[in-house]
Parts: sequence; C-alpha cells; structure tokens
Amino acid sequence: MSDVPILEETDRTTGRDALRKNIQAAMALAGAVRSTLGPKGLDKLLVDDEGRSMVTNDGITVLESAKVEHPIAHMLIAASAAQDQTVRDGTTSTVLLAAEWLQNAWHLVVQGVHPATIARGYRMAEAYCKEHLDSLAFEANRDDILSATMTSLAGKLHQKMQSTVSACAIEAAEAIAMESDGNVVADPTRVKVITRSGPALEESKLITGLALSKKRAHVEMPSSLGAGSILLVDGGLELRSLSTDVKLNVTSTSMLQSFRDAEQQRLLDQVKMLVDLDVTLLACREGIDDSMHAHLAEAGIKAFRRVAKSDLELLARGCGARLVPSIYQAKEKDVGVFISSKCERWGDVDHWVLETDEGGATFVATGSTDTVVGEVERCFADALGVACRLKENPLLIPGGGATYIALARRLRRYAETVPGREQLAIEAYADGLETIPRVLAENAGLDSIDTLLQIVSIQTKEDDDCIGLNVVTRQPENMRTSNIVEPARVLEQAISGASEATIAVLRIDDVLWAKQEISVPDDVQASLDGTAPDRR
Ligand code: ADP
Ligand code: MG
Repeated sequence: MSDVPILEETDRTTGRDALRKNIQAAMALAGAVRSTLGPKGLDKLLVDDEGRSMVTNDGITVLESAKVEHPIAHMLIAASAAQDQTVRDGTTSTVLLAAEWLQNAWHLVVQGVHPATIARGYRMAEAYCKEHLDSLAFEANRDDILSATMTSLAGKLHQKMQSTVSACAIEAAEAIAMESDGNVVADPTRVKVITRSGPALEESKLITGLALSKKRAHVEMPSSLGAGSILLVDGGLELRSLSTDVKLNVTSTSMLQSFRDAEQQRLLDQVKMLVDLDVTLLACREGIDDSMHAHLAEAGIKAFRRVAKSDLELLARGCGARLVPSIYQAKEKDVGVFISSKCERWGDVDHWVLETDEGGATFVATGSTDTVVGEVERCFADALGVACRLKENPLLIPGGGATYIALARRLRRYAETVPGREQLAIEAYADGLETIPRVLAENAGLDSIDTLLQIVSIQTKEDDDCIGLNVVTRQPENMRTSNIVEPARVLEQAISGASEATIAVLRIDDVLWAKQEISVPDDVQASLDGTAPDRR
C-alpha cells in the first residue's frame, strides 16, 4: 500500500488483519501477568538493564518495568496504571479482562459480526454490570475493612505481616480522613512512607505524625518542642552569591568588611522576622548558612534544611501552612501550627517527628534488604489504597471470583432479552468476566473448567451470589464467611477501565506501523488461529 507517498516507508495493516495483530499484542501482555493473579499466583523476578532486580507479585509493577513496544500493549498498561492510581488494586484483573474480551470479540469477528456491533454490545454489558453491582455489594463494618485489606495483600508477604500492614493501613486511613462538603475524603498521598533496610520485616510500624529522615541544623537547637508555629520556606537562608561575573573594585579593607557585615545583617534581619512572627520551627528547601545556626538556636528556633519539596508540601497540608519563596515574603497567614516536634534516632539515622492537628501518619517500612523493604512498601500502598477507598465508600463485594460469576449469570439472562447481534457480544462479555475465577483456579493448580462449573451450579442452586473459590482451602465457599471481600470500587473501576481499553482497540481498523512485527508466543498464536483446544 504505497499509493500515498508519505506512507512509503510504513508497514500498513488494515481491517481484520489490524485487529488480529492488536489482539495478539493484548494477549501476549496478559500472558505475562496471568500467573501472578490471586494469592496462589507466582512471583516474578524482574531484572532491569542495569542489573537491578526485584521480586514481585504485583501486576502493574511487572507491566511498568517491562519494555513493551506495541502501542496496543501500551493502551492496556495505561488502563492498568489508571486502575492503580484511582483504586490502587485490581491491576492484573484489568489487563486479564481486556485481553479476554478482545479474544472473545475476535471469535465473533471470525463468525462475521462487525467490531462496531461488538463494541455496542460490550457497552450495553458494561452499563448493565455497573447498574447491578450495587445489588451484590454490602456495607462494610470494621472487621470487614480488615478482611478487605487482608484480601488485597493475599499472596504477598506472610500471614502475620499481612495483618500488621493491614492494621497500619487502616489506622493511617483513619488518621488522614477528613470531612469535606459532607463527604469523607481520605487521600493516601497524605501518608508519608519512609524505608529502612536492616531491621527485621516485623519492625515495620505506623507512627502518628509526619516523620522525615532529617537532622536539625545544629545541636544547640531544641531537640523537642511543644505546640508552636512553623514556617516553610521554598528557598534558603544563605549568603547571596553573585549570579553574574562582576568585578568589585575594593579600595580599602573596611569596604570589604562592610560588604560582609551588610550580608550578615540581612541574615540577622530574617531571624528577627521569624521571631516577630512567633515562629519556633523552620523548614527550608535549600540550605541555611552555618553562621546562622547559632543565631537561630539563640532565638529558640529549631530549623531543618534541605527538606524535599514534596515533604514541604506534606508538612504544609499537615500544619495548615503555606510555602513562601523567602522569609521576607512571609506573612502571618502563611505560618502553620503544630502540636509537638521531636528529634529521634532510629538505628543510626536521625528522624524528625512532627505531630499536627490535621493528623497525618507515617509508615516506616523495614526489612532485611532493599528488595524486602520495597515489597513491604508496595503492599502498604495497596492496603492503604483499599483502606482509604473504604473510608470514603464503605461498600464491599465478595471476592474469589464470586462477583464476576454472579454478574456473568445475570448478564446471560439479560442477553436473552436483546434481539440484535449485540446479544452475542453480551454473552462474550459474560464469558470474559469469568476469566478471573478461571485464572484464580488455574493458578491454584485446580481444573479451571470444573471449578467454574461447580461454582456456577452452587450459586444457582442455592441462589447465593457469595459463593466463590477459596484458593487456600481449594473449595467453593461463601466468600463473606471466609472473609474474602474487596471494595466494590475496585471491581467497578476494573470493569470500566478494561471495557474502555477493549472498545478502543476494537475501533481501530487501520494501523500504520513504522516498526518491526511483534513476536507472539506460540500458544497465543495457536489460540487465535483456532488450533488450540478451547480453554472453556
Ligand atoms: P490484582 O492485581 O488484580 O489485584 P491480585 O493478585 O491482587 O490481582 O489478586 C486479586 C484477586 O484475588 C481478587 O479477585 C481476589 O478476590 C482474589 N483473592 C484474594 N484472596 C483470595 C482467596 N483466599 N481465594 C480466592 N481468591 C482470592
Ligand atoms: Mg490485588
């Protein structure tokens, strides 16, 4: 296809061929994370091009570290990353759902159904699922919240650590939750996480207040302070250096001295301004001149220098302060308040612990090596995400694939009422939802078809939507009594994100490709060609 000169150097695939190749890419990507789903999912060892390694079971971590070139794969990774940002969980599920829906769509395209019809049917199915999700959800009590955070950590860390990290996440979510316009808002970015490699994993803990690995500027400054005012400077307290090349013509020694004196006076003026503002605690993004330490200490001001901008922002939110570019610009309204400020030494690192009215919490992630600490940190982020979501919206659904199966059962009944070809797409969507329980069973070493059929039959016979697969006991069980529950928002977002990505791929019928072909694993190719045995 080189009738258009601009496309001469471009590989072009159109129509069905384009769709087939795009679906192959999506499936190859899903194949990379499939084995990590659920508590019995296996870990992946990731090694980057600089030789750094990481062991993880987290879908999005695997995807984001992989060097993926195919644009369709990027679309799926973006959906999974959005899932991570909004609800912090369900990232693997999102990719698996999208890939399965695409594969099912392909089977329909082969039978002659147009991709646009499939997209329409998928939209109808998505809307139906969202509408009926609430009828499967229930309000969480305190114990349920712990169960949900534990479920989000299933398969990661060991049992005792799961409960420690979960308890810390719930406490942290409570510390930072706020009322805003009649709604509860819990923003997980308000929780500070600091890492320490060396101490045992079990020493990970939550502390009230914000802790930073910082040492006060001078030992003479007070180590601990009671309630007081704080100023945050997005700059420094240093002698000015000349920014351009200037020649000073010094004609007498006193002239140089008066030049220095004026500079010193300027710094002293700033200390006076702090005293006038009643500030007892100062944090600067840049340095504080050595000659200032004694003056600040004398004025009873405790100061911290070289505080990262992100930490200053966290402090500003916690203390109700506003960052100022320099002390000269500071007004009374920029000053914030705190309850106490302490300096503590943990191991051989100095820390600054600040308690404020607004709450705020710090999780200290510990572990014998950096790899272990990294995994604790990621697990805490997952659990915190779940705890914050549940603080805002305490709706839970049964896990272990139960809700996916219940939705699929309802969707099939709904499909029967749709007269057009969209009916086929809705059925394909329902099949796709069942990929989650199927993969959970597969990863637990069970037969996925038998397990799925067994759960569907029990759900129907007992009219109980809570029956799912407990991969620990390897039996179909009531997920609520087995405490395998997750936030309804996670599933809702996974369904929206994956549907969005699937439909976007279905709508592409022309790919202008200036790069090489992607390689596809043999089993994926066989399944697309229809030569592989049907997994269902
Ligand atoms: P994701 O990245 O999609 O969150 P996970 O590896 O965290 O993937 O697995 C989440 C899935 O594992 C959820 O569907 C959840 O219901 C399920 N799950 C968690 N614990 C159990 C359990 N004990 N038995 C069966 N399924 C479980
Ligand atoms: Mg998860």
